[in-house]
Amino acid sequence: MEKRGNRIVILGAGESGTGAAVLAKAKGFDVFVSDSSSIKPEYKKVLDSHQVEWEELHHSEEKILSADEVVKSPGIPKEAPIIQKLERLNTPIISEIEFAGRYTDSKMICITGSNGKTTTTMLTYHILKQAGLDVGLAGNIGKSLALQVAEEPHGIYVIELSSFQLDNMYEFKADIAILLNITPDHLDRYEHKMENYAAAKFRILQNQTKCDAFIFWNDDPIIRNRLVAGKPESALYPFSEKGEEGVRGYTENGKFLLKVSDKIDFEMELEHLSLPGLHNLYNSLAAGLAAKLMGVRNDVIRKSLSDFPGVEHRLEKVATISGVTYVNDSKATNVDSCWYALQSITTPVVLILGGKDKGNDYTEIEALVKEKVRALVFLGVDNSKLHAFFDGKIGLISDASSMQECIDKARAFAEKGDTVLLSPCCASFDLFKSYEDRGAQFKECVHKLL
Ligand code: ADP
Repeated sequence: MEKRGNRIVILGAGESGTGAAVLAKAKGFDVFVSDSSSIKPEYKKVLDSHQVEWEELHHSEEKILSADEVVKSPGIPKEAPIIQKLERLNTPIISEIEFAGRYTDSKMICITGSNGKTTTTMLTYHILKQAGLDVGLAGNIGKSLALQVAEEPHGIYVIELSSFQLDNMYEFKADIAILLNITPDHLDRYEHKMENYAAAKFRILQNQTKCDAFIFWNDDPIIRNRLVAGKPESALYPFSEKGEEGVRGYTENGKFLLKVSDKIDFEMELEHLSLPGLHNLYNSLAAGLAAKLMGVRNDVIRKSLSDFPGVEHRLEKVATISGVTYVNDSKATNVDSCWYALQSITTPVVLILGGKDKGNDYTEIEALVKEKVRALVFLGVDNSKLHAFFDGKIGLISDASSMQECIDKARAFAEKGDTVLLSPCCASFDLFKSYEDRGAQFKECVHKLL
């Protein structure tokens, strides 16, 4: 490794920044942490207990610009003035995963994509854990990779990577890289250019050699086009619903099949998969391939794919009350994920949409809405864009400005046998603290109906 200077500045003291500070301190760096917002008390405690100097609510330029290297939280955009100043000084800026990756030789299974990252990461972790392997969960979920490397190292890590983390990764290498899909999201951070966002996602492949594996959705047009333009060195493991030439994970005659050698190495009945919906079939294929490549036994993969409990706020079945099933998919913050939610439901639907729009185009779900949706409830501060698109297309539409009002209206619209689905296509910040808060309020209101 090239010799770097001794002063490390960490910008942003959330889970990743705090973990990076602990690791940097353990490696003997002169560490300074700066956050322009307030730092949560639990992170202050960790920083203090490791004697790391920190500041909050402002950035002291003289302390930051003297850095030899900066570890940046994925939440800070590159347009932020302090980042611009560091770039002008040519100070290297890296992500916490890049930093932590320097201090471990563990096997890295890294998962990215526009949708399905958390589900696939948790499912892969679930399988490896059930196989008795020494595995840690990192990235956007759980404890930061840096903290685990510093204090409780594991032989394998399953890491969820957002495009923002990938943006500042250079030397890091995934032993197994999974790219689930690329659909428009966060374009505001990529100069509104799809190719910039796709390029960030493709960084998951950087530094891979032919000994490393690349698992990806074969039917994603953006992934396909990029692979046609230039094949990576990695060993390729595409998955698809259909078993075409070269595809390593697919379905046939009601069976879920994996092929990591030149024959079928794994099979199970599709109906035994615990996660519902086509999107979750893709997630299960990706996780199954990773597990197979890690040498997990077939009986363990089969059991794990059939008993995985799912992840909260993702197509989470809450209750069936008076014959109406309530499903919490609050994490569906873009149109594509709502499409998959609707696609997976076989009953008539009362659909709850709305929140903070990230530049949505609802034509993608128009046909499914016309086919399946009995009524729409718009839950948001400003529902005008939703009205402009759906008025006249669906007979029953109503507005709500709180979760209680929304559930009351949805219940009134629903008939026995229907599904009330919260899959809002939008971020939650207009009425709620977060998508978790929105999902929790949904569940609370539903439980009050019992
Ligand atoms: P992420 O971590 O990428 O945001 P999650 O696993 O949290 O993904 O799922 C987010 C939303 O996307 C959920 O509403 C879920 O129903 C939907 N989803 C999950 N997997 C996929 C997939 N492979 N393709 C499209 N949508 C998906």
